[in-house]
Amino acid sequence: MTTVQNLIGGERVGDPELARHNPANPGEIVAVTPASDASAVHAAVSAAEQAQGAWAALPAPARGAILLDAADLLRSRHSQVAEDLSREEGKTLAEATGEVRRAIDVLRFFGSLAWQASGEVLPSAMPGTTIFTRREPVGVAALITPWNFPIAIPAWKMAPALVSGNAVVIKPAELTPLSVAHLSNALVEAGLPAGVLNVVHGTGSVAGDALARDPRVAALSFTGSTRVGLGLHTILSERRARVQLEMGGKNAYLILDDADPLAAAKVVAASAFSLTGQACTATSRVYCTPGIMEAFLTALAKEAEAFTMGPVVSEQQLAVDVSAIDVARAEGATVLTGGDVPSGQFLRPTVLTGLAHTSSVVRDEIFGPVVAVLGVDSYEEGLARVNDSRYGLTAGICTRDLTAAHHFAAHAQVGVVKVNRPTTGLDLNVPFGGVKDSSSNTFREQGTAALDFYTWSKTVYLGHE
Ligand code: NAD
Repeated sequence: MTTVQNLIGGERVGDPELARHNPANPGEIVAVTPASDASAVHAAVSAAEQAQGAWAALPAPARGAILLDAADLLRSRHSQVAEDLSREEGKTLAEATGEVRRAIDVLRFFGSLAWQASGEVLPSAMPGTTIFTRREPVGVAALITPWNFPIAIPAWKMAPALVSGNAVVIKPAELTPLSVAHLSNALVEAGLPAGVLNVVHGTGSVAGDALARDPRVAALSFTGSTRVGLGLHTILSERRARVQLEMGGKNAYLILDDADPLAAAKVVAASAFSLTGQACTATSRVYCTPGIMEAFLTALAKEAEAFTMGPVVSEQQLAVDVSAIDVARAEGATVLTGGDVPSGQFLRPTVLTGLAHTSSVVRDEIFGPVVAVLGVDSYEEGLARVNDSRYGLTAGICTRDLTAAHHFAAHAQVGVVKVNRPTTGLDLNVPFGGVKDSSSNTFREQGTAALDFYTWSKTVYLGHE
């Protein structure tokens, strides 16, 4: 068991109060953390506020160098970090290792970007004048993160915030404190000045709420459920602070008759069951045209039965997953495969058929390894079903028809479209985010677009002789 304290102004503080258990072995306590109250959060924001000016005054490449050194440190200890991530979150060691590598690459990407010019030089209509723009840091950036990517999401928020000259206060998910501890330790050991990065552990309703309400927080980037995100939007918008929300999803895949049923089944299984279905980009509803339905379902059942997954993250999440399967059964659905919990928090990959389009199992986010397959008569009906959702994060289409693929790319109401590729799995150098109730749909995360949220543009008119 590891004690993970808060990091405030360079000091490790706070008494251990909240325990996190290993989802694969619930008897084992993995870590204990403080349950921070508002005063701890306010101290963290004060430390950030004090440290920010000097940090922003450093040359950008000096800030970037710290991110690059932190990447090297994480690389040197990545097996231990991946093991801890797997123990606290439950994903398989292979998945955890991939996520740690992603965090390392994110630090490298943004660390290197520090060498790139920001701002533009533009002509002016006024004689003897040059215009240039500067990207200014927002000041104190608050980050509130979920448990499902416990090191990658904090890294892809922290890195653009820090390299842009902001100070950060992060409130990580209660279930996964160790991963953020590894990330923050690497940054501190790489030379990040005290107070530039602060970590406060605790519950969302106390520590998260206090962080969102602190008027010195200029921008809040949140990833988590739509319910919590929309509440935060109200709090931040009331004081006209910046807010970036990436929230829930009910991601859909459309399988057309011309697709290869085996390839489509592999794509859907990876989309629905990797990371135990606990990815915001996971597919949980599939629409099939009639000619491929039977062959696709046979192949998908085989893929699901052979899939290796970690446990569900918590007893509460398992109860949500099992209850959705119970609702499906009560509505007369067929459980094609899975649907049972062979041991502990291990749910078998589950494929449901025979549900109505109106079923809550088809419409509401479950966030587990449960996928519903429904029939549609045509591409047009499939597209309409994909778009008939309050959410709009990702969607995919399996087809060899380029016209259909392009039409889908243009008309799917989502932030990320995948053609013949799983809805899960993103590259780090391209914008990511959703539309509708999946996102604030203002600023994108990842890639160079991520810098926009953490900076504001100033226009300078420079007169010369
Ligand atoms: P959650 O909303 O319960 O918690 C997310 C974070 O918010 C945690 O740190 C939590 O402590 C904090 N929080 C909770 N209540 C709060 C409050 N009242 N005020 C301030 N902070 C509060 O979500 P979760 O269960 O950790 O994660 C699962 C959800 O995250 C799913 O809905 C999933 O779709 C979503 N998610 C979305 C993306 C994306 O990029 N769109 C990525 C990953 C996860």
